[in-house]
Amino acid sequence: MKKCGEPASKTLLFCAARLQITHSLRCLLGHLQLLSHPRNLSDLPITSADDRKVSVCWSPQKWSRFHNIWLRDHCRCPQCFHSVTKQRLVNTFEIPPDIKPVHVHSTAEGLEVIWPTAATELHSSLYPWSWLRSNSYDPPIHPISQSSDKILWGSKIDKSPPTIAYEEAMGEDDRGLYKWLSLIDSFGFCFVTGVPPTPEATEGLSERIGFIRETQYGKFWEFTSDLAKGDTAYTTMALGAHTDNTYFTDPCGLQLFHLLSHTEGSGGATLLVDGFYVASIMKELHPELHSLLSSVPIPAHAAGEPTALYRPNPSSGYPVLGHDALTKELMQVRWNNDDRSVMSHLDPSSVEDWYKAIRTWHKLLTSHDSEYWIQLTPGTVLAVDNHRVLHGRSAFDGKRRVCGAYIGVDEYRSKFSVLREKFEHGLVSQPQQHGSDRHAETRSVWNSAL
Ligand SMILES: [Zn+2]
Repeated sequence: MKKCGEPASKTLLFCAARLQITHSLRCLLGHLQLLSHPRNLSDLPITSADDRKVSVCWSPQKWSRFHNIWLRDHCRCPQCFHSVTKQRLVNTFEIPPDIKPVHVHSTAEGLEVIWPTAATELHSSLYPWSWLRSNSYDPPIHPISQSSDKILWGSKIDKSPPTIAYEEAMGEDDRGLYKWLSLIDSFGFCFVTGVPPTPEATEGLSERIGFIRETQYGKFWEFTSDLAKGDTAYTTMALGAHTDNTYFTDPCGLQLFHLLSHTEGSGGATLLVDGFYVASIMKELHPELHSLLSSVPIPAHAAGEPTALYRPNPSSGYPVLGHDALTKELMQVRWNNDDRSVMSHLDPSSVEDWYKAIRTWHKLLTSHDSEYWIQLTPGTVLAVDNHRVLHGRSAFDGKRRVCGAYIGVDEYRSKFSVLREKFEHGLVSQPQQHGSDRHAETRSVWNSAL
């Protein structure tokens, strides 16, 4: 450990902190110093500490500050963070609120911080540079958003809809499964072709993604137009574009459909509409109506069965367009006008505007530019992101057998994350702590999701 007075540039900078020079000036001085001594030219960020914060200087114009208490709380050494379970071990509430480093130091591996402890020995924390940078909050340094992979679409998607072959999706090494989920993530839906037209094969395909979510319609469901479940889905009526489960607090994330057979009749084309695409048009053309759809909660119910009465919690429901509170990004579309309950909580002054908003939304949803119609045939499974893409169908006659499944949004997202980790980033091996082979390969404690 270097002490003040040692002839290393970074140590001099650390000493400068004690002279109350501002972080920015110190940062600039540090870089000038490095430039004037090419021998020391290094890409290591320059660090300094004061009573409350540690500053990391990425470049003369760019630095991040981290509160001492925040850094100590986020130590991921084996005593502070369980490397296998990825759970916090440090007792946050035993950290002195005014804790400050004994020493900070730039190393090739990251920022090293030496902390005082209640005992005589010191505690050393090491934070990788990339981790500090991606978790910078003062100021926030935004990484390239992964959700920017989303491709919005209208009716022209019929020229080349996202499709994968059953053999590929079922492939043993999971690469095909990853491709399938990536297509669903990008487009909000994907066809799987060449699936044996049986409930068993469809159920097997669904379970590739994760646990099937059991609901009032069953686990793996199969329906004909017999009104077996007190829902219009079980009739031959046309169904407008909607998302499922608006009456749930947590609507299912994915749904899979498979038309197994259609005999003695015709009709029953499938309709898909990209809710994110329509929302983007709404935002562009009618920002004030878009904002009503994003803020007015809509109550809903599923009450066709005497033994069940589903309503979201809170019962006032959720807006049509749900956004991430932090990034303001659109996260979820909920829309089923048929399942809507009494709008008893509307602000009297916005009743007419709200009806105007849903009328405009409906008009855009049902425009030729938005609607993608497809006649499904046995052997093709349709997987839909129920938080984004609305589905519907035209009326039909004859006998139609459809089977399918719901998969919870967390289930689907977990599988997608694991596969992305596997195929995009690779797993980082961790030293063994508990001698168990089961954890021979595991994710890093610095994984961006933790
Ligand atoms: Zn620690």
